[in-house]
Amino acid sequence: MGEYNLRCLAGGEILPPASRFELTCPAHAGLLRAEYAAGRLTVRPELSGLFRYIDWLPVAEPLPTKACPVTFQSPALSRLLGLPNLWLTFTGWSPAHGCRVQTGSFKELEAYPTLSRLREKAAVLGGTETIVVASAGNTGRAFAQAATETGMKCVLVVPEKNAASLWTTVPAGNNICLIAVSGDYTDAIRTADRICSINGFVSEGGAKNIARRDGMGTVLLDAVVTIGRLPDRYFQAVGSGTGGIAAWEASLRLIGDGRFGGRLPKLHLAQNRPFTPMTSAWRHCRRDILPEDMPDADVSIPAVYAPVLTNRSPPYGIIGGVYDAVTDCGGGFCSVSNSRAAEAAAVFEEIEEIDLDPAAAVAFAALMEAAEKGHIGRHETVVLNLTGGGYRAIRKDLGCFPVPVRKIVSVSAAAEDLKEILDGF
Ligand SMILES: *Cc1c(COP(=O)(O)O)cnc(C)c1O
Repeated sequence: MGEYNLRCLAGGEILPPASRFELTCPAHAGLLRAEYAAGRLTVRPELSGLFRYIDWLPVAEPLPTKACPVTFQSPALSRLLGLPNLWLTFTGWSPAHGCRVQTGSFKELEAYPTLSRLREKAAVLGGTETIVVASAGNTGRAFAQAATETGMKCVLVVPEKNAASLWTTVPAGNNICLIAVSGDYTDAIRTADRICSINGFVSEGGAKNIARRDGMGTVLLDAVVTIGRLPDRYFQAVGSGTGGIAAWEASLRLIGDGRFGGRLPKLHLAQNRPFTPMTSAWRHCRRDILPEDMPDADVSIPAVYAPVLTNRSPPYGIIGGVYDAVTDCGGGFCSVSNSRAAEAAAVFEEIEEIDLDPAAAVAFAALMEAAEKGHIGRHETVVLNLTGGGYRAIRKDLGCFPVPVRKIVSVSAAAEDLKEILDGF
């Protein structure tokens, strides 16, 4: 299951089987893409959580998890927006909707396949590697949770001031090593990079890791097998845009499947003003993000409603990245104000009783604006990717356990100092 070849999108060649765990092509600077042996998708509901889509995940074995997107319609929201064929795909915590993602966001869809792929790599190549993740937000929590539930080792690197925001719903064991850096997020990334230079530690790979992209792609798979066809439009809030790439790649596979239609859904990717680098570059018809696309980033980043959407170096211009995805489907970018996002969150909570992640509220606000402006045909099929939410219920239903800090390090901690801290871990 999940058998695949890796194709380099820049050079067009298929990598040799021995390179199947690589994150980058040795010869070209584009993304790699999985081409699965299964041309048709067989859903396997007997497998846990998102692993029901294992045919199109780059893993040999499922891991135990309940995390899986859920697709449903909301008659009240359809009426409000005048869109009878609106479908919501939610990945968060709402047992009432049948969704049980314990850390509340679609980052868990990336974490489990990534860990499963790493475990297979160790089994095939020998030598266990420890994954290193720099994130104080949803990604950090998702990997902490997945590592805790599977017993796999994981190093988390976060800015010191955010260390308290990392929690899991089962107490983290000794297999999680949380390192706090006395600096900002960029310092945490640099520290994580230094840790990855130590033998035995590897980066999770971000958008370059097909396990992360195809894990996120299960959102569109879930939507399409539920609806029975590809949607005309897909709305998502983006920071890195990896979810947009994932939706595009999943759509290409579903077209290849043959049962769900032959047209790519138009991606509507939303950013949150005032930090909108991809929206700005797109409006200027550029493949590259320039400094002028994010003026005063130090001021605009802390000013957004949805902090997870503030990525300064998204995989936008890279071959096979966000620019190519949006161009190929004839989609576009938009931006949403803080007040519209907050309003959208309130409307959604009133109707569906879920407190949305601020980023999911941005996506919903983008859909509302597009509907108001008449950009969507009344009978078009629309998928709204609600990427997270249900945090209040998580606290009540499950409880949140802070991940304990193992060590606070300075921004200049060298690889040798970090190695000493990680010795015996
Ligand atoms: C990370 C994240 C996003 C943005 O996802 P990308 O596709 O990586 O840009 C949106 N919503 C939530 C809740 C997230 O955690």
